[in-house]
Amino acid sequence: MSVESTIRAAVARSATVAEVVVGAGVMAGAGALFRRQFGDGPAWIIADEASWAAAGDRLEAGLAAAGIPLRRHVMPARPRPKPTVELANRLRDMLATDGSTPVALGSGVINDVVKHAAFSLDRPYLCVATAASMDGYTSAGAPLSDRGFKKTIQCRPARAVLGDLDVIAGAPPAMTGWGYGDLAGKVPAGADWIIADALGIEAIDDVAWPMVQQGLRSWLADPALVAKGDRGAVEGLFSGLTLVGLAMEAHGSSRPASGADHQIAHLWEMEDLHHLGERVSHGACVAVGCTTTLRLYDWLLSQDLTRIDPDRVASQALTLAAKTALIATTFGPGEIGARAVDETAAKHVDGAALRQRLALLAKVWPDLRARLQVQLMTAQAMRAALHAAGAPADEADIGVTHDALRTSVMAARFLRSRYTLLDLLDETGLLAEAVEAALPREGAATRQGGR
Ligand SMILES: [Zn+2]
Repeated sequence: MSVESTIRAAVARSATVAEVVVGAGVMAGAGALFRRQFGDGPAWIIADEASWAAAGDRLEAGLAAAGIPLRRHVMPARPRPKPTVELANRLRDMLATDGSTPVALGSGVINDVVKHAAFSLDRPYLCVATAASMDGYTSAGAPLSDRGFKKTIQCRPARAVLGDLDVIAGAPPAMTGWGYGDLAGKVPAGADWIIADALGIEAIDDVAWPMVQQGLRSWLADPALVAKGDRGAVEGLFSGLTLVGLAMEAHGSSRPASGADHQIAHLWEMEDLHHLGERVSHGACVAVGCTTTLRLYDWLLSQDLTRIDPDRVASQALTLAAKTALIATTFGPGEIGARAVDETAAKHVDGAALRQRLALLAKVWPDLRARLQVQLMTAQAMRAALHAAGAPADEADIGVTHDALRTSVMAARFLRSRYTLLDLLDETGLLAEAVEAALPREGAATRQGGR
């Protein structure tokens, strides 16, 4: 099935997304699209100075051509608007003053805050994408910080998404690199789902899985063309990100798109990680989370888990009380630690249940390992692809030290109840050993691990 027909089929199944228009010059039809999906207006365009400069005039011209009355709200681009519930609520209060249809003109942050604001008002909205920089245009979740805790809040995706390749291919190359990084994360995220499936924790969904995984290798195949802004490569990237969003909506959670790679990234996003004076974007954090996870996978695949002794390992496993204490020392007092305790408790098993899971793991390991090998790329191959796409790949690329990376990896599993590679390593008692083997300490030469 071609990517266009796959998107069409996914849109037909979507509860909210009614139309996705991707192509060169499609901005000229923005007004007609608006009329089809939202009626006569008015439209209220929400942008920042950067997205406005990229396509504001073209969007206004497109809407005006169909006689849609409009107003605009353009936020400063520097510093970049922050993805917070507070900003979403300010926009909600602004939009509540009339009956306009929100039109998000921008990429990640703009779309996420407008998505949340529109949902709060129970209004549909139009998303006009300006970069292939992340997968949230068509997804139901809005990853926003609420009093410092980054969480994915279930909302509704845009009713209509417009992606004009003339705009998207002209986005700053760094932003396209972020989208490549967000998409690259689906390689280890898929592996995490395979683990959860094999252990009977969370079955793979036959609808959402192929929406992400079937085309993934082809969307990632030409990183150098992506970096150059090649139309075909950027169209593949944007279409892939669109399908990932639809897969999350179809599945009802971000499982099809997010695993340990995103948990690591979320930690940095919550810390408001900055590098060279700029906040490090979601896709950049995910790119490094992706290679980090793949380094751990490289190590895991070299292990023989059929030799696990369930009784011995289960008897030495951390109790929930011990994990709770560890969370307190890791995160300190406050919202993040409190949430982490709940998330961790939701997936914690011990005693007989843990012994049973470990016995199952030992039994299925040869088959599971083979499935993982088909799914995964080596960290080294992914690092090369990310760099070719103009994306960061190593912790140093985003200003994270080796030691800070190791600390993040040890903490990341506490953030979400979702079962990933990190939980498998934790429950088998191998997490510290894997981190020691796969991730260098400060001062050590960077290890170009492979398998
Ligand atoms: Zn993402």
